[in-house]
Amino acid sequence: MNILVINTGSSSLKYQLFNMETETILAKGNCERIGIDGHVKHTPTNGKPSLSEDVPMPSHSEAINIVINTLTSETYGVIDSLKEIHAVGHRVVHGGKKFSQSVLIDQAVIDALVECVRLAPLHVPANLMGINACQKAFPTAPHVAVFDTAFHLTMPDHAYIYSIPYEYYSDHDIRRYGFHGTSHRYVSAKATEFLGGNAEGLKIITCHLGNGASLAAIKDGKSVDTTMGATPLEGLPMGTRSGTVDPSLIPMISDAEGGLSIGDTLDILNKKSGVLGISGTSSDFRDIMNTAEFHLYEPENEDESAEDIETSERARLALDTFEYNVAKFIGSYIVALGGVDAIIFTAGVGENSPAIRKGICDWLKGFGIFVDDEKNGHAGGDGISDITSAGSSAIVLTIPTNEELVIARDTMALVKG
Ligand code: AMP
Repeated sequence: MNILVINTGSSSLKYQLFNMETETILAKGNCERIGIDGHVKHTPTNGKPSLSEDVPMPSHSEAINIVINTLTSETYGVIDSLKEIHAVGHRVVHGGKKFSQSVLIDQAVIDALVECVRLAPLHVPANLMGINACQKAFPTAPHVAVFDTAFHLTMPDHAYIYSIPYEYYSDHDIRRYGFHGTSHRYVSAKATEFLGGNAEGLKIITCHLGNGASLAAIKDGKSVDTTMGATPLEGLPMGTRSGTVDPSLIPMISDAEGGLSIGDTLDILNKKSGVLGISGTSSDFRDIMNTAEFHLYEPENEDESAEDIETSERARLALDTFEYNVAKFIGSYIVALGGVDAIIFTAGVGENSPAIRKGICDWLKGFGIFVDDEKNGHAGGDGISDITSAGSSAIVLTIPTNEELVIARDTMALVKG
């Protein structure tokens, strides 16, 4: 069975085509700048050449047609015809209170998703456009929705309720939902397998640290808390998002900018804050680490101007703030779980940066949690790496996440019934 996994944004459409017999990727790619001008990138894994070219794509429907033409093309293709795509799995950012699991998409699901638009007005309409375009392109194939929020619907009331007037929850569904659910679910299941396969009684903290970042506290295989909230803005500082701040900053920033609207002020918290905001140079953790190290490892460098030093110190401050906040939330999840058996690092930063993992874990020594520098330095790659030091009170692992594979697996499971 071949399954096409689709992840639609307002002006982008990412895809991966899986062969589910082998769980391998046949091709993956991305349509960018939909509705603006249009660019397609496509990478097949069968030895055919990759493609990267400008193609007009006024809408998501044109984008999906370009994907289909590319997947079936003689030069770049990996299948002979559309019929070789047996089902389509869609990443959907928000499923509200309704969807605690992935579902086969029918009209009732679409209607329920339209209801969710008010909860994620930037993301769900884009997801709906993607579903609509794919349903037109694959009218007979089953379509499945896999939700970022679903895994966290097991959070207890005291973890998801905001301490604001209750009517906002009861009348408007304003509560904490959490995101990155497919990633937290996948890596916590992998960790459970690694630890013997019995989720019962197991206390896991998963740290999804990428451009977007969130933690989840997982007990008995179920999410009991997570750092993102009603939107992905809450929680940790991220590449460009502030994470949790005093809400009074909104009028303060607005005033500082001469009277910005709420929307524009939130844009500053979503797109210009986090490690980008503190460092002033980049939202990319690798860039920031390079900038920080420039100063730390070359203090005698005579070419280094005062400006260079300030730039690298701010980069270091951005990293310090990130590491401190991750550790602080881990501490709070040790409280939520009543202890911790395993801490898992995943996503771009969590999988690939020994220095940031060490920076975070150094804060956890008071809990008796220690990582082994040697193992930490060599961790990463395709498999699970155990970076725990002897005598540590909790196991620390790096596990590569694979959200697309989760979507493909859920799709196959629902299609097969
Ligand atoms: P993701 O959103 O999961 O794709 O993660 C993207 C982030 O991971 C970017 O900020 C990258 O700079 C960061 N990243 C990837 N590799 C490394 C690395 N070796 N060291 C530090 N950060 C990394």
